[in-house]
Amino acid sequence: MSAIKLRTLEGGTTTVDGAALDAIGAALRGKVLAEGAPGYDEARTIWNAMIDRKPGVIIRCQGAADVVQAIRFAAAHKLLVAVRGGGHNIAGNAVCDGGLVVDLSQMKSVRVDPTSKRAWVEPGATLADLDKETQAFGLVLPTGINSTTGVAGLTLGGGFGWITRKFGLTIDNLISADVVTADGSLVRASANKNKDLFWALRGGGGNFGVVTTFEFRLHKLGPQVLAGLVVHPFDDAAPVLKEYRRIARSAPDELTCWVVMRKAPPLPFLPTEWYGREVLVLAMCYSGGVKKGEKAMAELRSIGKPIADVVGPTPFVGWQQVFDPLLTPGVRNYWKSHDFVNLSDEAIDILLDAVPKLPGPECEIFIGHVGGVAGRVGKKATAFPQRHSHFVMNVHTRWREAAADQSFIIWTRKLFDAATPYAAGTAYVNFMPADEVDRVERAYGPNYRRLAKAKRRYDPSNLFRMNQNIQPVSD
Ligand SMILES: Cc1cc2nc3c(=O)[nH]c(=O)nc-3n(C[C@H](O)[C@H](O)[C@H](O)COP(=O)(O)OP(=O)(O)OC[C@H]3O[C@@H](n4cnc5c(N)ncnc54)[C@H](O)[C@@H]3O)c2cc1C
Repeated sequence: MSAIKLRTLEGGTTTVDGAALDAIGAALRGKVLAEGAPGYDEARTIWNAMIDRKPGVIIRCQGAADVVQAIRFAAAHKLLVAVRGGGHNIAGNAVCDGGLVVDLSQMKSVRVDPTSKRAWVEPGATLADLDKETQAFGLVLPTGINSTTGVAGLTLGGGFGWITRKFGLTIDNLISADVVTADGSLVRASANKNKDLFWALRGGGGNFGVVTTFEFRLHKLGPQVLAGLVVHPFDDAAPVLKEYRRIARSAPDELTCWVVMRKAPPLPFLPTEWYGREVLVLAMCYSGGVKKGEKAMAELRSIGKPIADVVGPTPFVGWQQVFDPLLTPGVRNYWKSHDFVNLSDEAIDILLDAVPKLPGPECEIFIGHVGGVAGRVGKKATAFPQRHSHFVMNVHTRWREAAADQSFIIWTRKLFDAATPYAAGTAYVNFMPADEVDRVERAYGPNYRRLAKAKRRYDPSNLFRMNQNIQPVSD
């Protein structure tokens, strides 16, 4: 290869000569990709089309040994490093301009042991990869609601979705992780080994090293679950949302119901006159038997006069993909998120006022429903502190034209600011856009200092800084 000028950790540049690049290439099972190489553009393209970065070099890893080589190479040359899992992060931390991207997207193995109900998952696997393997044995791991999301980044930030209230956050089911730390060693973190690292990995993001294998505890569920959508006219949104709030607060752990407010997409079960008009959707899933689910969902399904109710037994793998068509890659995105312990009348008024003013047809407001088992884990038991939040608002603004960036971003920030007085003040790091660096310390609240100490121990030079960054501190 020819010599390449690469960005350093300190913000300068260094020239890495061709011999050094050839040597690392020869040591890998994977590939070194420079600009123009086949696969380079695919490896630098991530879910959020707002992010268009050109790494100086990409190392496409095929296994843990490649990751060790890549990190030692980065450390030796003091390079700016980004680590790419599923490439879904809204802030774009999977890629960097001018530096080295450690691309894990080809490491997709998922191995399930149905007897011990465990899965070993590589960091390039998506939720769809994981669900297909686990559901073949009637087993599940609680993760997120969009099947193209990467298991790796989702897990390291916490991870919640349709079955979290019954089985906990994704991190609550992590048994161990193999991690390549900043000095290029491969270590295992678990309840017995490197306990401080294991604690920090469960919510602390990619700050502490590169995870090459996750070991998870699985649960029995599926292949069929009771799940589906109940669609209401937006004119009825206020009473529907208030009834929803009452029922959701005391719902059994098995019952999860998220709210989506947006212009109706052309769903085949909706009368066509509703296409493009504002609706409120209750999206529900029961983590148990279908008959018990029918009883548990009856009250939610009896609210108001819905336009459509398409709740029924459905394959869990399919349900995990139900929102994929609304969350496709390649669109410009800006998100803002709040945690709520309760949805006050004031918060509801603000959200309902915003829906008819959403700035584009692909924009939407999600209200995630958490709590349950995930809410009963201690705040300090893992690095993920916001166990108290019951509802998570996520404003998804999506648009196609670069010229519209500022107007969509400003609109979203205004809604976020209006809702701030009624929110819990904490934040989910996995939903934070790139401009929220000042929110990281508050997001971790009582756990930040312990995280900063773990950071000093495992990554004192802050090699892993393309993330919601935790700064290493001294005692
Ligand atoms: C459409 C959409 C829907 C979503 N829905 C949910 C949801 O329902 N529930 C939920 O909890 N979250 C959800 N998320 C948020 C999601 O959890 C985060 O975007 C997460 O960061 C994605 O992980 P990834 O591996 O795909 O991302 P990447 O962008 O590849 O990585 C995210 C961060 O993790 C780091 N990282 C990735 N892999 C590793 C590794 N192996 N070792 C160390 N660091 C690593 C990266 O460097 C980066 O900082 C959603 C996101 C999107 C875009």
